[in-house]
Amino acid sequence: MIASIGLEVHVQLKTRTKMFCSCPNRFGDEPNHLVCPVCLGYPGALPVMNEEAIRLTVVTGLLLGCRINLKNKFDRKNYFYPDQAKNYQISQYDQPLCLGGELEIRVGERSKTVRITRIHLEEDVAKNTHFADGSGIDFNRAGTPLMEIVTEPDMDDEEEVFAFLVALKQVLAYGGISECNLEQGNIRCDINISVRPMPESPLGTKIEIKNMNTFRGAYRAVAHEVQRQVREVERGRTIPQETRRWDDEGGVTSSMRSKEYAHDYRYFPEPDLLPVELSPAQVDVWQKNLPEMPAARRERMVRDFGIPEYDAGVLAADRAVADFFEEAARLSGKGKAVSNWMMTEMLRLLAAEEVDIGRVKITPAALASLVGLVEARTVNQPAAKEIFGILFSSGGDPESIVRERGLAQVSDTGALQGLVDQVLGEHQRSVEDYLKGKEAALQFLIGQVMRLSRGKANPQVARDLLQQSMRRGQ
Ligand code: ZN
Ligand code: MN
Repeated sequence: MIASIGLEVHVQLKTRTKMFCSCPNRFGDEPNHLVCPVCLGYPGALPVMNEEAIRLTVVTGLLLGCRINLKNKFDRKNYFYPDQAKNYQISQYDQPLCLGGELEIRVGERSKTVRITRIHLEEDVAKNTHFADGSGIDFNRAGTPLMEIVTEPDMDDEEEVFAFLVALKQVLAYGGISECNLEQGNIRCDINISVRPMPESPLGTKIEIKNMNTFRGAYRAVAHEVQRQVREVERGRTIPQETRRWDDEGGVTSSMRSKEYAHDYRYFPEPDLLPVELSPAQVDVWQKNLPEMPAARRERMVRDFGIPEYDAGVLAADRAVADFFEEAARLSGKGKAVSNWMMTEMLRLLAAEEVDIGRVKITPAALASLVGLVEARTVNQPAAKEIFGILFSSGGDPESIVRERGLAQVSDTGALQGLVDQVLGEHQRSVEDYLKGKEAALQFLIGQVMRLSRGKANPQVARDLLQQSMRRGQ
């Protein structure tokens, strides 16, 4: 059996205001505080189109190689549901902004092209929340611009679906299209899945899984739903066309409703909005100013900062990580040293704490200053690592941390000589071993000085003093 999977990905656009009114497009305010007659659907209130939302959708289309529909229009999608006060959603039906296009995905060593069917623009709906004793509706989200990217059923399994979502998020983040914050519901997708016995067989009945808001969830839902359908077909059962929901805790899909057909929505052209006409000159300007994508950025970072190709590739994969690196590298003038911190401590801690770089307390300026302290030998490597950890979780500036915690490296020979004498007195055997030519004994003695200094001794100075003292004592 073979599965065919297509996605409808809803993306919240990064605009200042909502799609058809001037209410702020913002997450996290008090419920129902970002509302007006237009987004509350009062009778007679008129929509006014958000030009920036049009631009962001066209830019997405250009980044994905779509044809831009210079003449397009908005339609009413009629349905009754409490998340939509007007009883219709303004969307685009038969003349969307973008048609065609594609996105290349990578699964392991293999790459594949997923075709894009269309991209249209619509308005998001309100958010329902169900409490023990009733339900609440928050209209802050109602009427915010929502871009819908529809793919062809080109994906075969959960790995490809996951890879597609990751690749798409990268384009959206790089393009400055969306905040791409999954916890805030910035990217949500519906998944269409069917199975068929042979590649040449016609597509099987399509099941839709609604409203997945994590990539992990989409991965698990696809894996489960494909298996379920295969089992049904192999038992000789037919698969009814329906919409299913994913239960993340139970790890199963369950029937939500039998699928409505598109004509149930009674689409008709939105009478309160003129059709959109874009000039070719305008689209040309947007095309010429397309944001830099990861591959180009990788090459530029190698050129500008002299870091290895591999490091540049890892850092460029995430736009926010690359931004952080570039700012710190520019401030410190030490690209390679900054890249080393990013590739090791930064990525390790981000993965361990499962946070985005946008949420951490360390700033590019703080990292630049830490690199400066290491270069100036004010702190040694173990202390620098400790300071990085403090910056990562609590913020602050490295110089004050060094002062407050007494982490400055001790390079002063006078201060270290006392420790050296103490170590030599306590470890006569090692001294004899060293004088007989055992280099390892010297390493041991340096380690002892480091321990006595609680990690603050300059290891090079400690080495010199130990050698001098032992030769003198010979
Ligand atoms: Zn409004
Ligand atoms: Mn939609």
